[in-house]
Amino acid sequence: MDQKYSNILVTGGCGFCGSAFVRFVVNNVPDVCVTVVDKLTYAANPDNIAGLPENKVKLVVGDICDSDLLDQLVPGHDAIVHYAAESHNDNSIVDPEPFVKTNIEGTYRLLEAARKYHARFHHISTDEVFGDLALDDPGSFTEESPYRPSSPYSSSKAASDMLVRAWVRTYGLRATISNCCNNYGPHQHSEKFIPHSIACIQRGERPKLYGDGLNVRDWIHVDDHARAVWSILTKGTVGETYLIGANCEHSNLEILRAILKAMGQSEDYIDWVKDRPGHDRRYAIDASKLRRELGWTPIHNDFAAEVSRLCCETPL
Ligand code: NAD
Repeated sequence: MDQKYSNILVTGGCGFCGSAFVRFVVNNVPDVCVTVVDKLTYAANPDNIAGLPENKVKLVVGDICDSDLLDQLVPGHDAIVHYAAESHNDNSIVDPEPFVKTNIEGTYRLLEAARKYHARFHHISTDEVFGDLALDDPGSFTEESPYRPSSPYSSSKAASDMLVRAWVRTYGLRATISNCCNNYGPHQHSEKFIPHSIACIQRGERPKLYGDGLNVRDWIHVDDHARAVWSILTKGTVGETYLIGANCEHSNLEILRAILKAMGQSEDYIDWVKDRPGHDRRYAIDASKLRRELGWTPIHNDFAAEVSRLCCETPL
């Protein structure tokens, strides 16, 4: 039988992925209240959860590194779903410190609070912890793939995953982990590849492309990610890791060309820039465990149509 929850604490619920999860829960699951704790960094947008019923969602502005705040907040919640993070690779190269602080220390503080107040814990992580694959490697990441993070961002996420695993093994914390591929969809911060490219074209500027543009990412709609997290929280086995992906691999160049086409620009309207240091070549996810064991499957399967819709719907 599915695990039931009545009060869920969502960290980072004003960000891109966290807010999609909050909207999913509030709109689809009766009798669940959500508390969002969010520091409201530059990446947050409280409007992402605006308009949801006030009796079902409450926003607390605060830092997950603040244990006193967590002592007030966590009691009364039966689960913590942990999205809050510094999430932009480029920023992590310029200044890694906030990544170490929020992603590692913040996760540690939350794990301690979950342990103290007996909350179920779900940790949101990324496929970037596995490093990269060669373009001609036919393989995909699985739950058994070794950790080989490349950037300060992915290494801070890898460290946080390890903390979660240790808290399960040492303290018996009821926790699960998910490692998801690249998300796309509405409400993504304009620093990220797809919205950034759309915004550049809207301003009449050439969108930037790192290196040769052949780096491949596996893409998933943010709402499919949210449904996968809900499946893991309600049906997943405590102590397990689940990879989330939608079998949708595209190079950055292919995506940029699709955006240019949808926005009526020529396919060579590109500002080629020097590659990012340590830029991972290819990510690919084998999500068969999630599909097989929990019956999850993505429902947003027309990537080209979704990207085209984002081009039309992204506000100027
Ligand atoms: P985001 O940058 O859009 O949102 C992060 C949110 O966390 C923001 O609202 C921010 O204010 C909040 N936050 C940051 N530091 C905080 C702190 N110390 N205390 C409280 N709140 C804090 O990020 P996102 O893209 O939504 O990613 C969310 C999670 O999903 C991250 O853990 C990321 O690693 C993971 N993830 C994202 C993707 C993706 O493609 N976006 C893919 C896989 C995994």
